[in-house]
Amino acid sequence: MTSDFERCPTCRTPLTTETVDGLWRPFCPTCRNIVNLSPKLVAAALVGDADGLLLVKRSYGAEKGLWAPPGGYVEQGEVVEEAARREAYEETGIEVAIKDLVGLYSTEGRPIVLAAFSADVVGGELHDRSPEVQEVGFFPVNNLPPLAFAKDRSIIDTWVKQLDTPLQS
Ligand SMILES: [Zn+2]
Repeated sequence: MTSDFERCPTCRTPLTTETVDGLWRPFCPTCRNIVNLSPKLVAAALVGDADGLLLVKRSYGAEKGLWAPPGGYVEQGEVVEEAARREAYEETGIEVAIKDLVGLYSTEGRPIVLAAFSADVVGGELHDRSPEVQEVGFFPVNNLPPLAFAKDRSIIDTWVKQLDTPLQS
């Protein structure tokens, strides 16, 4: 079971698990409540310029030291495109304008759903001041550094095919 909760959010009793609708779910034996686990939505921005694709080197977690497009969790009540724009700015200092949805990506057994958007640079300056990243940079799409996630390469390939103006390579 993958859960953010070890204890019941209502009464703090340690959770057990129950099978409901064929899935293991966190269950509170005191309240008899099932803790509903929703997917977590992550928004990412694929930002291109003349030098290629904007990537960040992650500074935490299992993917520490590997590269990915800027992105992060969508806050409750936040417009998804705005989350992609905000994360790109927070992680890289680059102001972007979100364009199109490149795709929506999920993996069986994983809690994350990723919404990937294409975006254009509209301002800002590259920085690596975010605590979540070690380095930032633009990379030619045919010479990318080691990527953090298995799906990233196919997401990037899809993005490249959708571009109005081909990137230099
Ligand atoms: Zn409870």
